[in-house]
Amino acid sequence: MDDKDELGGKLVLQTHKFFGSVEDSHAGMRGMDIGRLLAQKVEGGRYIEVWKKSTVLYVFDDKKVGILKDGVYKILTPKMILNAAGAREKFLRFRGNSLSGVYGAGASRPW
Ligand SMILES: Cc1cc2nc3c(=O)[nH]c(=O)nc-3n(C[C@H](O)[C@H](O)[C@H](O)COP(=O)(O)OP(=O)(O)OC[C@H]3O[C@@H](n4cnc5c(N)ncnc54)[C@H](O)[C@@H]3O)c2cc1C
Repeated sequence: MDDKDELGGKLVLQTHKFFGSVEDSHAGMRGMDIGRLLAQKVEGGRYIEVWKKSTVLYVFDDKKVGILKDGVYKILTPKMILNAAGAREKFLRFRGNSLSGVYGAGASRPW
């Protein structure tokens, strides 16, 4: 499940060439190209069914999962749940942090 209409998560937003390890994270390639490469692998996988524009709303106590897919609410009972929903910047709380000109670390990165 992915709530976006394109797979790739944060990588889709990244035009810069990746740093880090070539083996582990395709360093040297642009993030958006890495995203497309990985998306092709997943979407071409024989055993993987991809639902895009599908928001996972809730995992119930009995492990049933509630999903909003194309505006329709569905409940699935998966054999296994792998949560890879990414992360959000935890913006610091301080007086005046909502004033214009005050940015979080994510917004002030050089790329
Ligand atoms: C600007 C920037 C530059 C970066 N540069 C580098 C770099 O050079 N080298 C490096 O190694 N790393 C870099 N990173 C970090 C790297 O991109 C991320 O760590 C990585 O992409 C995270 O992958 P992920 O699959 O964990 O999460 P994400 O890419 O965030 O994917 C999570 C997906 O889950 C979806 N989702 C979330 N909640 C729900 C829900 N309830 N229902 C359905 N779908 C949901 C999201 O829409 C998203 O598509 C960078 C990150 C940023 C933001």
